[in-house]
Amino acid sequence: MAYTKVVIIGGGFAGLTAAKALNHAKLNVLLIDKTNHHLFQPLLYEVATAALSPGQIATPLREILRNQENTAVIMAEVVKIDKTLKQITLLNGDVHGYDFLIVCIGARHSYFGHGDWEFFAPGLKTIKDALNIREQLLISFEKAERLQSIEEAAKYLNFVIIGGGPTGVEMAGAIAEIANKTMFKNFRRIKPEEAKIYLIEALPQILPMYPSHLAEKARIALERMGVKVITNKKVIEINESGVKTEDAFIGSKNIIWAAGNQVSPMLKTLDVPLDRAGRVVVGPDLTIPDHPEIFVVGDAAHSIDKEGKPLPGVAPVAVQQGRYAAKLIKNATPKEKRHPFVYFDKGSLATIGKAKAIAMVGKLQLSGFFAWLMWAFVHIIYLIGFRNRLGVMFEWAATMFTGERGVRLITRPIDQDVSKK
Ligand SMILES: Cc1cc2nc3c(=O)[nH]c(=O)nc-3n(C[C@H](O)[C@H](O)[C@H](O)COP(=O)(O)OP(=O)(O)OC[C@H]3O[C@@H](n4cnc5c(N)ncnc54)[C@H](O)[C@@H]3O)c2cc1C
Repeated sequence: MAYTKVVIIGGGFAGLTAAKALNHAKLNVLLIDKTNHHLFQPLLYEVATAALSPGQIATPLREILRNQENTAVIMAEVVKIDKTLKQITLLNGDVHGYDFLIVCIGARHSYFGHGDWEFFAPGLKTIKDALNIREQLLISFEKAERLQSIEEAAKYLNFVIIGGGPTGVEMAGAIAEIANKTMFKNFRRIKPEEAKIYLIEALPQILPMYPSHLAEKARIALERMGVKVITNKKVIEINESGVKTEDAFIGSKNIIWAAGNQVSPMLKTLDVPLDRAGRVVVGPDLTIPDHPEIFVVGDAAHSIDKEGKPLPGVAPVAVQQGRYAAKLIKNATPKEKRHPFVYFDKGSLATIGKAKAIAMVGKLQLSGFFAWLMWAFVHIIYLIGFRNRLGVMFEWAATMFTGERGVRLITRPIDQDVSKK
């Protein structure tokens, strides 16, 4: 008997949750991802700042689904969806048919029409991004140590993070720590603790999704760590020398982009309405118009809450949407009997360097060490694999007590200017 074929594009939070929720169903499930691993993006900044190794936050999809007999995994990039023929096409030309399709390809960075900035200000979304940023950061200290001119060295010790959302705040805090606590004994000429870290946000406050008093606590904590927080200032140019805001120029060879998201243009092949970030505008059951068999979920979807506000691009939304789509497919629920997707918001957490965080859980609003404990607990619970959980806990404890960051290897020759920096 031929079983219903379900194709899932993307093995991130949404795709993996959907695949797991389809376990034991009488279905043929095919999970396609252009990488071979599931990545725990919330801890990516720790790889970029040499605290964790890539393997501690990424696990091969095949390994995770090895016991799930109804599910096959292939590593490939999907380049086209043909909703009329019910087929998807891979970059190598292979075609796969489906009865149900779950599209959950996540998002990349958006440079708001300035694609050329990416070269000078890489963003953080993949393991490769994190390793590039890590190497760039470590090479900068090495280059600064070699330079005779204090002004030239300063460019390598200026770190600019653009975007004051959770990722920007986490990066800024972690770079301040690596400069002030980890590197300071290792160099003779330069004083890494004199590194200047700038966090630039175009809106009046960092962490705009948090109430102002919590965001203010985060700002104070960052400033105590040596981060200069600049709010209400738009970046108007980025080039190989640095970053220009509306009224200042910061010379820097280390610029990190944490400011916006854009979904892959592959979604245009669906030929349905997209929002400004390229996300597919989905209906209450997370499907596209006239195609109840095509679900778009997670960061790739523009879905709304009960008040009509777009849901945020965060892991819990992706997880819950992946589970919701899988349930409808598993139960073969006809369109007219589908209850709308409702997001259950368990709260938000953002960390600000070692052992400090802010948390918003229902009416509870916390900051400081207890918020960090909550943050740490949630991240450990959601990490995949016992070994990774243990490894990450060990690294955190080691960093907390010694200030050391173990993963500080540079593999690229220092003068091989792959990134022109
Ligand atoms: C640095 C960083 C920190 C974050 N911190 C937090 C946090 O603290 N808390 C929180 O809740 N959220 C956080 N987020 C957001 C959270 O990670 C995302 O909301 C979540 O990953 C979205 O899940 P998803 O399944 O939609 O997409 P993803 O998890 O991004 O997965 C998409 C998958 O699709 C694959 N893919 C993409 N295109 C194709 C294609 N054409 N063909 C095949 N495969 C494809 C990708 O390889 C990827 O595996 C963070 C994100 C980043 C980048």
